[in-house]
Amino acid sequence: MKTQVGIIGSGPSGLLLARLLHLQGIDTVILESRSREYVLGRVRAGVIEQGMADMLRQAKVGARMDREGLIHEGINIAFDNRLERVDFPKHTNGKVVMVYGQTEITYDLMNAHIDEAGGIVHYESPAIRVEDYDTERPRIIYQQNGKESELVCDFVAGCDGFHGVARKSIPAEKIATFSRAYPFGWLGILSDVPPVKEELIYANHERGFALCSMRSQTRSRYYIQCEVNDKVENWTDDAFWDELCRRLPSEEAANVIRGPRLEMGITPLHSFVAEPMRFGRLFLAGDAAHIVPPTGAKGLNLASSDIYYLSRALLAYYKQKRTDLLDRYSETALRRVWKAIRFSWWYTNLLHKFDNEPMSRRLQTSELDYLTGSEAGQAVIAENYVGLPYEKFE
Ligand SMILES: Cc1cc2nc3c(=O)[nH]c(=O)nc-3n(C[C@H](O)[C@H](O)[C@H](O)COP(=O)(O)OP(=O)(O)OC[C@H]3O[C@@H](n4cnc5c(N)ncnc54)[C@H](O)[C@@H]3O)c2cc1C
Repeated sequence: MKTQVGIIGSGPSGLLLARLLHLQGIDTVILESRSREYVLGRVRAGVIEQGMADMLRQAKVGARMDREGLIHEGINIAFDNRLERVDFPKHTNGKVVMVYGQTEITYDLMNAHIDEAGGIVHYESPAIRVEDYDTERPRIIYQQNGKESELVCDFVAGCDGFHGVARKSIPAEKIATFSRAYPFGWLGILSDVPPVKEELIYANHERGFALCSMRSQTRSRYYIQCEVNDKVENWTDDAFWDELCRRLPSEEAANVIRGPRLEMGITPLHSFVAEPMRFGRLFLAGDAAHIVPPTGAKGLNLASSDIYYLSRALLAYYKQKRTDLLDRYSETALRRVWKAIRFSWWYTNLLHKFDNEPMSRRLQTSELDYLTGSEAGQAVIAENYVGLPYEKFE
């Protein structure tokens, strides 16, 4: 099998890249290890920066998002039984974020790229390795129906997430990795109940962090910081709701509407970056190259900015025979990646319980008091949260 751009992974990175290239007449084939239903069933991110929302519109998959997504003009930060709001438009020249689930984005992309445009995605066809990535004819070796096959391409996009094979196809001495594991996880519940407040609440509490988020006006997503080795089986729905309410200011806790879980899971928190993001004709994008703790809602949005740079670089190659954007891809994408890694790390440190030291807690609450009481402090949170601008890459 042959194609112009071979894409490993049909998560948001792979599907968005395929869709943008397809709209410009460039052929792609996606290889995905899981089934379509499995990919669609994964419950993950939900806060979309304006840059990503614009990318989805450019990919002509933004109509449902614009109809059903919730525009948020701020977030609330809770500490010391107080609730302080950070206004986005005021501090960012009018920018906002959109609440629209990753599941919905994946559904819209599958619908447009596969069902309507006839884009090729081979599900249950795991890539095993990438070969000859430093030649003009890189190959993806993959498995389908128990047989080994190969996909010969001009370029390979490794969009196969943190555990994928694209990054692992590179010899260790050619890749530098940076990582940090945080000493706790997030226990999350998804439930068909109205959210406690119209905008997200990030809570710093002496018992640990809590987040009140949502997918729609009738579906809520709540998280509480938990032990890194905790198990979902240790938590009944009632125990979850009780603990969430303990960590919120009393007024908000009184407004929490409880319901049965649609889904409950534990997410470990990591920061990870692999450098560079380009090896000859193999390009890494999204979680294949970096992951962030979900505190700043950056994982999915970073996947989108990588695809912004990669899609433009590939278009410049096919339409204008230019290779300079391909050459600059890694450096440009990483500059934005590191800023999001830094913000997610800082925001995680600000809001979570790391130890039992009274000094740690006082430092956190005094920093929160300072940030939320200062226009400059609010601007720092707002401009990072709505997303730093994509660099011009034309
Ligand atoms: C549990 C969880 C919760 C999260 N919550 C948030 C959040 O609240 N906010 C936020 O911003 N981000 C969150 N994220 C991060 C966000 O979901 C990711 O950043 C985003 O999915 C990245 O998209 P991607 O396409 O790069 O990778 P992925 O979505 O991981 O997609 C990679 C795809 O590659 C496939 N694949 C893997 N190996 C192979 C192979 N060998 N061959 C073929 N296909 C392969 C996988 O099956 C998958 O479909 C969360 C992530 C997880 C895991």
